[in-house]
Amino acid sequence: MTTTPAAPIETDALVIGAGPVGLFQAFQLGLLGLSVQVVDVLPQAGGQCVALYADKPIYDIPGVPVCTGRELTDLLLRQTAPFQPGLHFGHEVQTLRPLGDGRFEVGTHAGLQFLACSVFIAAGVGAFTPRRLKVAGLEAHEQRQVFHHPDDLAPFAGQRVLVVGGDDAALHCAAALAEHPRTTDVTLLHRRDQFTAEADLLARVAALRANGRLRVCIGQITTARAQGDRLDAVTVLDAQGLETLCPLDVLIVCQGLSPRLGPIADWGLALERKLLPVNVTTFETVLPGIYAVGDINTYPGKKKLILCGFHEATLAAHAAHDHLRPQERGPLLYTTSSALLHRRLGLTG
Ligand code: FAD
Repeated sequence: MTTTPAAPIETDALVIGAGPVGLFQAFQLGLLGLSVQVVDVLPQAGGQCVALYADKPIYDIPGVPVCTGRELTDLLLRQTAPFQPGLHFGHEVQTLRPLGDGRFEVGTHAGLQFLACSVFIAAGVGAFTPRRLKVAGLEAHEQRQVFHHPDDLAPFAGQRVLVVGGDDAALHCAAALAEHPRTTDVTLLHRRDQFTAEADLLARVAALRANGRLRVCIGQITTARAQGDRLDAVTVLDAQGLETLCPLDVLIVCQGLSPRLGPIADWGLALERKLLPVNVTTFETVLPGIYAVGDINTYPGKKKLILCGFHEATLAAHAAHDHLRPQERGPLLYTTSSALLHRRLGLTG
Protein backbone atom coordinates (compact mmCIF):
# COMPACT_ATOMS: atom_id res chain seq x y z
CA MET A 1 0.00 0.00 0.00
CA THR A 2 1.35 3.49 -0.81
CA THR A 3 0.67 6.50 1.39
CA THR A 4 -0.09 9.88 -0.13
CA PRO A 5 1.98 12.69 1.41
CA ALA A 6 -0.13 15.39 3.12
CA ALA A 7 -0.88 18.38 0.89
CA PRO A 8 1.53 21.29 1.39
CA ILE A 9 0.36 24.11 3.65
CA GLU A 10 -0.11 27.27 1.58
CA THR A 11 0.75 30.55 3.25
CA ASP A 12 1.62 34.17 2.48
CA ALA A 13 4.64 33.98 4.79
CA LEU A 14 6.70 31.23 6.36
CA VAL A 15 8.87 32.14 9.35
CA ILE A 16 11.80 29.83 10.10
CA GLY A 17 12.56 30.13 13.82
CA ALA A 18 10.25 30.84 16.76
CA GLY A 19 12.75 32.87 18.78
CA PRO A 20 11.76 36.37 19.93
CA VAL A 21 12.40 37.84 16.49
CA GLY A 22 10.52 35.10 14.60
CA LEU A 23 7.52 35.55 16.93
CA PHE A 24 7.49 39.33 16.49
CA GLN A 25 7.88 38.78 12.73
CA ALA A 26 4.67 36.72 12.80
CA PHE A 27 2.94 39.58 14.69
CA GLN A 28 4.00 42.23 12.19
CA LEU A 29 2.96 40.08 9.22
CA GLY A 30 -0.42 39.39 10.84
CA LEU A 31 -0.94 43.09 11.45
CA LEU A 32 -0.48 43.66 7.72
CA GLY A 33 -3.10 41.03 6.90
CA LEU A 34 -0.74 38.28 5.71
CA SER A 35 -1.20 34.63 6.72
CA VAL A 36 1.74 33.14 8.62
CA GLN A 37 3.21 29.74 9.50
CA VAL A 38 6.10 29.45 11.99
CA VAL A 39 8.45 26.45 12.22
CA ASP A 40 11.07 25.65 14.87
CA VAL A 41 13.19 22.60 15.50
CA LEU A 42 12.88 23.05 19.27
CA PRO A 43 9.85 21.66 21.11
CA GLN A 44 8.88 25.16 22.33
CA ALA A 45 8.94 28.83 21.34
CA GLY A 46 11.49 31.38 22.56
CA GLY A 47 14.76 30.48 20.81
CA GLN A 48 17.78 31.46 22.90
CA CYS A 49 15.55 33.24 25.45
CA VAL A 50 14.03 29.95 26.60
CA ALA A 51 16.70 27.43 25.55
CA LEU A 52 19.61 29.34 27.11
CA TYR A 53 18.31 31.74 29.76
CA ALA A 54 14.62 31.09 30.45
CA ASP A 55 14.64 32.35 34.05
CA LYS A 56 17.23 35.12 33.80
CA PRO A 57 16.12 38.75 33.72
CA ILE A 58 16.32 40.91 30.56
CA TYR A 59 16.44 44.68 31.17
CA ASP A 60 16.58 46.21 27.67
CA ILE A 61 13.26 45.48 26.01
CA PRO A 62 11.65 48.88 25.28
CA GLY A 63 8.85 49.64 27.74
CA VAL A 64 9.46 46.47 29.78
CA PRO A 65 11.82 47.36 32.64
CA VAL A 66 12.45 43.70 33.46
CA CYS A 67 11.20 40.29 32.35
CA THR A 68 12.69 36.81 32.06
CA GLY A 69 13.35 35.06 28.75
CA ARG A 70 10.31 32.87 29.34
CA GLU A 71 8.07 35.83 30.27
CA LEU A 72 9.09 37.71 27.11
CA THR A 73 8.28 34.63 25.03
CA ASP A 74 4.86 34.25 26.67
CA LEU A 75 4.10 37.94 25.99
CA LEU A 76 5.16 37.61 22.34
CA LEU A 77 3.00 34.51 21.90
CA ARG A 78 0.04 36.40 23.42
CA GLN A 79 0.66 39.37 21.16
CA THR A 80 0.71 37.14 18.06
CA ALA A 81 -2.31 35.03 19.07
CA PRO A 82 -5.01 37.20 17.36
CA PHE A 83 -3.53 36.27 13.97
CA GLN A 84 -3.58 32.54 14.77
CA PRO A 85 -0.28 31.72 13.06
CA GLY A 86 0.34 28.01 12.45
CA LEU A 87 3.01 26.99 14.98
CA HIS A 88 5.02 23.87 14.15
CA PHE A 89 7.52 22.77 16.81
CA GLY A 90 10.00 19.90 16.58
CA HIS A 91 10.49 20.47 12.84
CA GLU A 92 13.84 21.38 11.33
CA VAL A 93 13.45 23.16 7.99
CA GLN A 94 15.74 21.31 5.63
CA THR A 95 14.83 22.29 2.10
CA LEU A 96 13.98 25.67 0.57
CA ARG A 97 13.48 25.84 -3.18
CA PRO A 98 12.26 28.77 -5.27
CA LEU A 99 9.49 27.74 -7.70
CA GLY A 100 9.09 29.41 -11.08
CA ASP A 101 5.96 31.32 -9.98
CA GLY A 102 7.63 33.43 -7.25
CA ARG A 103 6.64 31.05 -4.45
CA PHE A 104 8.91 28.81 -2.36
CA GLU A 105 8.64 25.14 -1.57
CA VAL A 106 9.83 24.48 1.96
CA GLY A 107 10.19 21.08 3.63
CA THR A 108 11.02 19.87 7.14
CA HIS A 109 12.93 16.76 8.18
CA ALA A 110 9.69 15.23 9.48
CA GLY A 111 7.90 15.63 6.17
CA LEU A 112 5.90 18.88 6.58
CA GLN A 113 5.67 20.79 3.29
CA PHE A 114 4.82 24.44 2.72
CA LEU A 115 4.14 26.59 -0.34
CA ALA A 116 5.04 30.11 0.76
CA CYS A 117 4.83 33.44 -1.09
CA SER A 118 7.62 34.81 1.13
CA VAL A 119 10.09 33.32 3.61
CA PHE A 120 11.52 34.97 6.73
CA ILE A 121 14.65 33.33 8.10
CA ALA A 122 14.75 34.11 11.83
CA ALA A 123 17.07 31.23 12.60
CA GLY A 124 19.28 33.01 15.15
CA VAL A 125 22.57 31.24 15.60
CA GLY A 126 21.16 28.10 13.99
CA ALA A 127 19.11 25.13 15.04
CA PHE A 128 19.78 24.15 18.65
CA THR A 129 20.71 20.52 19.15
CA PRO A 130 21.66 18.94 22.48
CA ARG A 131 25.28 17.93 23.05
CA ARG A 132 25.31 14.15 23.23
CA LEU A 133 27.48 11.77 25.25
CA LYS A 134 29.97 9.95 23.07
CA VAL A 135 29.33 6.52 24.56
CA ALA A 136 28.69 3.51 22.32
CA GLY A 137 25.24 1.97 22.61
CA LEU A 138 23.36 4.91 24.16
CA GLU A 139 21.74 6.07 20.91
CA ALA A 140 19.59 2.96 20.68
CA HIS A 141 17.81 3.97 23.93
CA GLU A 142 17.06 7.61 23.04
CA GLN A 143 13.55 8.79 23.86
CA ARG A 144 12.88 5.54 25.75
CA GLN A 145 15.49 5.73 28.53
CA VAL A 146 17.96 8.38 27.37
CA PHE A 147 16.68 11.97 27.23
CA HIS A 148 18.32 15.32 26.48
CA HIS A 149 17.13 18.48 28.28
CA PRO A 150 13.58 17.15 28.82
CA ASP A 151 10.89 19.78 29.51
CA ASP A 152 8.62 17.52 31.51
CA LEU A 153 10.19 15.64 34.42
CA ALA A 154 6.95 14.10 35.68
CA PRO A 155 7.40 10.75 33.83
CA PHE A 156 10.74 10.17 35.62
CA ALA A 157 9.54 10.48 39.22
CA GLY A 158 9.92 7.26 41.18
CA GLN A 159 12.62 5.87 38.87
CA ARG A 160 16.38 5.46 39.26
CA VAL A 161 17.60 8.52 37.41
CA LEU A 162 21.15 9.55 36.50
CA VAL A 163 21.44 13.22 35.46
CA VAL A 164 24.63 14.22 33.62
CA GLY A 165 25.85 17.83 33.55
CA GLY A 166 27.17 20.63 35.72
CA ASP A 167 25.23 23.80 34.89
CA ASP A 168 21.84 25.34 35.69
CA ALA A 169 19.86 22.94 33.52
CA ALA A 170 21.42 19.79 35.01
CA LEU A 171 21.20 21.04 38.60
CA HIS A 172 17.63 22.21 38.18
CA CYS A 173 16.65 18.82 36.74
CA ALA A 174 18.45 16.83 39.47
CA ALA A 175 17.07 19.02 42.28
CA ALA A 176 13.49 18.92 40.97
CA LEU A 177 13.61 15.11 40.72
CA ALA A 178 15.25 14.72 44.16
CA GLU A 179 12.55 16.92 45.74
CA HIS A 180 9.72 14.89 44.23
CA PRO A 181 7.84 12.94 46.95
CA ARG A 182 8.04 9.69 44.91
CA THR A 183 11.79 9.93 44.40
CA THR A 184 13.82 6.90 45.34
CA ASP A 185 17.13 7.34 43.61
CA VAL A 186 18.63 10.40 41.86
CA THR A 187 22.31 10.83 41.04
CA LEU A 188 23.96 13.89 39.55
CA LEU A 189 27.09 13.06 37.57
CA HIS A 190 29.63 15.68 36.52
CA ARG A 191 33.26 15.64 35.39
CA ARG A 192 34.42 17.67 38.38
CA ASP A 193 33.08 18.70 41.77
CA GLN A 194 32.44 22.24 40.60
CA PHE A 195 29.07 23.43 39.34
CA THR A 196 28.02 26.57 37.46
CA ALA A 197 24.61 27.85 38.53
CA GLU A 198 22.77 30.63 40.36
CA ALA A 199 23.63 30.80 44.08
CA ASP A 200 20.16 29.72 45.26
CA LEU A 201 20.20 26.65 43.00
CA LEU A 202 23.70 25.71 44.23
CA ALA A 203 22.42 26.02 47.81
CA ARG A 204 19.36 23.88 47.00
CA VAL A 205 21.57 21.12 45.55
CA ALA A 206 24.00 21.32 48.50
CA ALA A 207 21.08 20.86 50.93
CA LEU A 208 19.69 17.87 49.01
CA ARG A 209 23.18 16.39 48.89
CA ALA A 210 23.66 16.91 52.64
CA ASN A 211 20.36 15.27 53.61
CA GLY A 212 20.98 12.30 51.31
CA ARG A 213 18.16 12.91 48.83
CA LEU A 214 20.61 13.56 45.99
CA ARG A 215 23.79 11.60 45.34
CA VAL A 216 26.58 13.46 43.55
CA CYS A 217 29.10 11.46 41.60
CA ILE A 218 32.26 12.86 40.00
CA GLY A 219 33.46 11.13 36.86
CA GLN A 220 32.55 10.25 33.30
CA ILE A 221 30.49 7.51 31.67
CA THR A 222 32.70 5.12 29.73
CA THR A 223 30.38 2.27 28.75
CA ALA A 224 26.68 1.44 28.64
CA ARG A 225 25.26 -1.97 29.59
CA ALA A 226 22.00 -3.36 28.23
CA GLN A 227 19.89 -6.35 29.26
CA GLY A 228 17.94 -7.34 26.17
CA ASP A 229 16.67 -4.09 24.69
CA ARG A 230 16.82 -2.26 28.04
CA LEU A 231 19.66 -0.02 29.21
CA ASP A 232 20.25 -1.14 32.78
CA ALA A 233 23.57 0.42 33.86
CA VAL A 234 26.49 2.59 32.87
CA THR A 235 30.10 2.42 33.99
CA VAL A 236 31.51 5.60 35.54
CA LEU A 237 35.23 6.28 35.60
CA ASP A 238 36.33 8.61 38.42
CA ALA A 239 39.38 10.90 38.69
CA GLN A 240 41.34 8.16 40.53
CA GLY A 241 40.85 5.78 37.60
CA LEU A 242 38.31 3.61 39.47
CA GLU A 243 35.33 2.24 37.54
CA THR A 244 31.92 1.88 39.21
CA LEU A 245 28.80 0.28 37.78
CA CYS A 246 25.82 2.62 38.15
CA PRO A 247 22.40 0.91 37.67
CA LEU A 248 19.64 3.12 36.25
CA ASP A 249 16.21 3.29 34.65
CA VAL A 250 16.62 6.70 33.03
CA LEU A 251 19.63 8.70 31.84
CA ILE A 252 19.06 12.46 31.48
CA VAL A 253 21.80 14.35 29.63
CA CYS A 254 21.96 18.14 30.22
CA GLN A 255 25.29 19.07 28.68
CA GLY A 256 24.01 22.19 26.93
CA LEU A 257 22.68 22.94 23.49
CA SER A 258 24.88 23.83 20.59
CA PRO A 259 23.69 25.79 17.56
CA ARG A 260 24.16 24.29 14.13
CA LEU A 261 23.68 26.36 11.00
CA GLY A 262 22.74 23.11 9.27
CA PRO A 263 20.70 23.14 6.09
CA ILE A 264 20.60 26.96 5.74
CA ALA A 265 24.02 26.72 4.09
CA ASP A 266 22.48 24.67 1.24
CA TRP A 267 19.72 27.10 0.21
CA GLY A 268 21.71 29.09 -2.33
CA LEU A 269 21.96 32.18 -0.10
CA ALA A 270 25.21 34.14 0.13
CA LEU A 271 26.77 33.58 3.55
CA GLU A 272 29.28 35.81 5.28
CA ARG A 273 30.86 34.08 8.27
CA LYS A 274 27.77 31.88 8.65
CA LEU A 275 25.47 34.96 8.56
CA LEU A 276 23.10 36.20 5.86
CA PRO A 277 23.88 39.64 4.43
CA VAL A 278 20.73 41.73 3.90
CA ASN A 279 19.58 44.95 2.27
CA VAL A 280 18.92 47.24 5.26
CA THR A 281 15.83 48.92 3.83
CA THR A 282 13.95 45.64 3.23
CA PHE A 283 15.98 42.98 5.12
CA GLU A 284 15.82 40.91 1.95
CA THR A 285 18.66 38.45 1.28
CA VAL A 286 20.27 38.03 -2.15
CA LEU A 287 17.20 35.98 -3.16
CA PRO A 288 14.11 38.16 -3.69
CA GLY A 289 11.22 37.10 -1.45
CA ILE A 290 13.54 35.64 1.21
CA TYR A 291 14.18 37.89 4.19
CA ALA A 292 16.58 37.40 7.12
CA VAL A 293 15.98 38.98 10.53
CA GLY A 294 17.48 38.77 14.01
CA ASP A 295 20.79 37.15 14.94
CA ILE A 296 21.12 35.29 11.61
CA ASN A 297 21.61 38.42 9.48
CA THR A 298 24.50 40.81 9.04
CA TYR A 299 24.88 44.38 7.80
CA PRO A 300 27.13 47.30 8.73
CA GLY A 301 26.56 48.21 12.37
CA LYS A 302 24.55 45.06 13.17
CA LYS A 303 23.93 44.46 16.90
CA LYS A 304 22.68 41.07 18.07
CA LEU A 305 19.98 42.47 20.34
CA ILE A 306 16.32 41.56 20.55
CA LEU A 307 15.12 45.14 20.01
CA CYS A 308 17.22 45.40 16.80
CA GLY A 309 15.58 42.18 15.58
CA PHE A 310 12.14 43.68 16.28
CA HIS A 311 12.98 46.70 14.10
CA GLU A 312 14.26 44.44 11.31
CA ALA A 313 11.12 42.27 11.45
CA THR A 314 8.90 45.36 11.14
CA LEU A 315 10.67 46.68 8.04
CA ALA A 316 10.85 43.20 6.48
CA ALA A 317 7.09 42.69 6.98
CA HIS A 318 6.31 46.01 5.30
CA ALA A 319 8.65 45.21 2.39
CA ALA A 320 7.04 41.79 1.86
CA HIS A 321 3.54 43.24 2.12
CA ASP A 322 4.32 45.95 -0.47
CA HIS A 323 5.72 43.30 -2.78
CA LEU A 324 2.90 40.76 -2.36
CA ARG A 325 -0.03 43.23 -2.15
CA PRO A 326 1.06 46.33 -4.12
CA GLN A 327 -2.61 47.33 -4.49
CA GLU A 328 -2.89 47.67 -0.67
CA ARG A 329 0.06 50.07 -0.32
CA GLY A 330 -1.04 53.13 1.59
CA PRO A 331 -0.21 55.37 4.50
CA LEU A 332 1.26 53.84 7.66
CA LEU A 333 -1.51 52.75 10.06
CA TYR A 334 -1.30 53.05 13.84
CA THR A 335 -2.59 50.36 16.19
CA THR A 336 -4.00 53.10 18.45
CA SER A 337 -6.30 54.57 15.81
CA SER A 338 -6.78 52.28 12.78
CA ALA A 339 -10.18 50.55 12.54
CA LEU A 340 -8.62 48.03 10.11
CA LEU A 341 -5.86 47.09 12.55
CA HIS A 342 -8.40 46.85 15.40
CA ARG A 343 -10.41 44.40 13.27
CA ARG A 344 -7.29 42.36 12.50
CA LEU A 345 -6.38 42.35 16.20
CA GLY A 346 -9.84 40.98 16.95
CA LEU A 347 -10.79 44.06 19.01
CA THR A 348 -13.83 44.85 16.86
CA GLY A 349 -16.03 42.64 14.66
P1 FAD B 1 17.07 32.83 18.36
O1 FAD B 1 16.61 33.29 19.67
O2 FAD B 1 18.40 32.17 18.26
O3 FAD B 1 15.97 31.84 17.75
C1 FAD B 1 16.21 31.19 16.53
C2 FAD B 1 15.34 29.95 16.45
O4 FAD B 1 15.45 29.39 15.13
C3 FAD B 1 15.79 28.85 17.41
O5 FAD B 1 14.70 28.49 18.24
C4 FAD B 1 16.24 27.69 16.50
O6 FAD B 1 15.91 26.42 17.03
C5 FAD B 1 15.43 27.97 15.23
N1 FAD B 1 16.03 27.41 14.02
C6 FAD B 1 17.26 27.64 13.51
N2 FAD B 1 17.44 26.97 12.35
C7 FAD B 1 16.28 26.29 12.14
C8 FAD B 1 15.83 25.40 11.11
N3 FAD B 1 16.59 25.07 10.05
N4 FAD B 1 14.59 24.88 11.21
C9 FAD B 1 13.78 25.18 12.26
N5 FAD B 1 14.16 26.02 13.27
C10 FAD B 1 15.38 26.56 13.20
N6 FAD B 1 19.58 40.18 23.90
C11 FAD B 1 19.04 41.33 24.39
O7 FAD B 1 18.52 42.14 23.61
N7 FAD B 1 19.06 41.56 25.74
C12 FAD B 1 19.61 40.71 26.65
O8 FAD B 1 19.64 40.98 27.85
C13 FAD B 1 20.17 39.49 26.15
N8 FAD B 1 20.72 38.58 27.00
C14 FAD B 1 21.27 37.42 26.49
C15 FAD B 1 21.80 36.48 27.37
C16 FAD B 1 22.38 35.32 26.88
C17 FAD B 1 22.96 34.31 27.85
C18 FAD B 1 22.38 35.07 25.48
C19 FAD B 1 22.98 33.81 24.92
C20 FAD B 1 21.83 35.99 24.59
C21 FAD B 1 21.28 37.19 25.09
N9 FAD B 1 20.70 38.13 24.23
C22 FAD B 1 20.14 39.27 24.74
C23 FAD B 1 20.68 37.91 22.77
C24 FAD B 1 19.30 37.46 22.32
O9 FAD B 1 18.92 36.28 23.03
C25 FAD B 1 19.30 37.18 20.82
O10 FAD B 1 19.66 38.39 20.16
C26 FAD B 1 17.92 36.75 20.37
O11 FAD B 1 17.54 35.53 20.98
C27 FAD B 1 17.90 36.57 18.86
O12 FAD B 1 16.62 36.18 18.51
P2 FAD B 1 16.32 35.38 17.16
O13 FAD B 1 14.85 35.16 17.15
O14 FAD B 1 16.97 36.10 16.03
O15 FAD B 1 17.13 34.02 17.28
